[in-house]
Amino acid sequence: MNIVLTAINAKYIHSNLAVYSLKAYAEKYKEHITIAEYTINQQMDEILMDLYKKQPDVLCFSCYIWNLTYVETLIREIHKILPDLPIWVGGPEVSYDSKDVLLRLPEVTGVMKGEGEEMFLELAAYYIDGNRELSETAGITFRNSEGGIVDCEWRRIMDLSKVPFVYKDMKEFANKIIYYETSRGCPFSCSYCLSSIDKCLRFRDLDLVKQELQFFLDEKVPQVKFVDRTFNCKHEHSLAIWKYIQEHDNGVTNFHFEISADLLNEEELQLISKMRPGLIQLEIGVQSTNPDTIREINRTMRFEKVAKIVKRINSFGNVHQHLDLIAGLPFEDYESFGKSFNDVYALCPEQLQLGFLKVLKGSYMKEHEQEYGLIHKSLPPYEVLYTKWLPYKDVLKLKRIEEMVEVYYNSGQFTYTLSQLVKAFATPFAMYEAMGAYYEENGLHVVSHSRVSRYEILLQFALQQDAKRGELYRELLVFDLYLRENMKNRPEFAGEYTMEKEELSAFYEKESKEHCYLEGYEMYDKRQLRKMTHMERFHYDVTEDGTRRERVILFDYRNRNPLNYQARIFCMTDLEFL
Ligand code: SF4
Repeated sequence: MNIVLTAINAKYIHSNLAVYSLKAYAEKYKEHITIAEYTINQQMDEILMDLYKKQPDVLCFSCYIWNLTYVETLIREIHKILPDLPIWVGGPEVSYDSKDVLLRLPEVTGVMKGEGEEMFLELAAYYIDGNRELSETAGITFRNSEGGIVDCEWRRIMDLSKVPFVYKDMKEFANKIIYYETSRGCPFSCSYCLSSIDKCLRFRDLDLVKQELQFFLDEKVPQVKFVDRTFNCKHEHSLAIWKYIQEHDNGVTNFHFEISADLLNEEELQLISKMRPGLIQLEIGVQSTNPDTIREINRTMRFEKVAKIVKRINSFGNVHQHLDLIAGLPFEDYESFGKSFNDVYALCPEQLQLGFLKVLKGSYMKEHEQEYGLIHKSLPPYEVLYTKWLPYKDVLKLKRIEEMVEVYYNSGQFTYTLSQLVKAFATPFAMYEAMGAYYEENGLHVVSHSRVSRYEILLQFALQQDAKRGELYRELLVFDLYLRENMKNRPEFAGEYTMEKEELSAFYEKESKEHCYLEGYEMYDKRQLRKMTHMERFHYDVTEDGTRRERVILFDYRNRNPLNYQARIFCMTDLEFL
């Protein structure tokens, strides 16, 4: 018997925790279970052929919002080649309308609703041992031999500590993000989220968690992403985990958590302040700062408190913070979204993600779509097209803004230029709006751009806003560019190189002997030092207020800021430099 658990991930770097967890729980049948992982970027034909070659006796698919359309098409095709093959689906995207799934997909044998470990074990027993009936398996919806649909009741939730740890041989997960779970369910009730349906919050035993964290630390895994819906909803749990990773830090591993910032208490903040830069990163859903919107979507977030805490964490200078907003929520029109954007932008997160509402089946939002005049796409991810408050033309403008934020803000490549350029606009939102319009007017949004051309475009845009500050903007862009990259081919927009050969030669000669600036370069000679670093003369104070002030900046690429990857810099007056 060969039961194939199929995961189609969004990107190659992702792995699918669910299929590994199902296989680990059904340990006694492990010889009969195969995992097949692909990505949605692969040709469907390639996956179809590969699945066929695996000769499955039972085929299972893990379904999520990002792969459902792909999986459904694949199921229709595979059924043509293997018409008698039992096909099962599971995951949040099929759990809450399981009967509809079976009506929509006659090729599918059944749906596993909710958490799958125990259900899958029973299904494996049904197919492998053949000594039980399908109808005995709580939590499934299936097609019986007469073609009728049988909807068994949902299972009771399971003890999360009984789920085996899935990571043993890390070679299997080389170059992949590692996902890890220490709690299931969420105590909150956000109206757009399916996690709000699962109110039974449960936690994995902390002793087990510590052993597993130690495994990641020993293996020097680059990143572990916790999939816990609100990681810090129980202080005792989050504090114990953060304490453990702080005390056992290996200097390499980064841990990512989704949290509610306003739940953080003083003890947790104190602990976070002492962590190695880059040890943890935090994802914080703000979604909107409009109080009417927050109330309507049943969120308990208090933005004033979130703002205070995010700023405080920012002041520690050791944690990458990722803040989320959602466009298309009730009571949020274009102007109100602009305000939410400006409020969040003012907190200077490392990343600001501007997402669009997804109207998920089974969610409160879906049930109230008429009331909100909410029209969404028919296919997953069921993204909002327009609402009573936000017409489609404004959704389009926000799409353009989202692209600009991704390219210019979230890339972290234009930090200093943006901080000066924003002064030419009434608000940050107005700046990204104008950038989006500039891209559109100049047909720039339809072609792909190299990294350097993004700098050139931003310079042209800045010149259009304020030509008098053109030289400052050019220098800021040159600074931003070299802050990230020791670029050997000087791009055209950067203009003539401002350093003389003689002064460079004198500086590196001295540095190779005296080691005044560059730490960790002691074994390199002056020629190597020059290659490994960059020096540039600036005529404006690019690191501070942009006023006229001549300085030479040395860029050290071996000592980067772990949060934003920027090179360490040394600013010198001509006097110091010479
Ligand atoms: S959005 Fe986050 S906090 Fe709200 S219900 Fe979902 S998981 Fe919980």
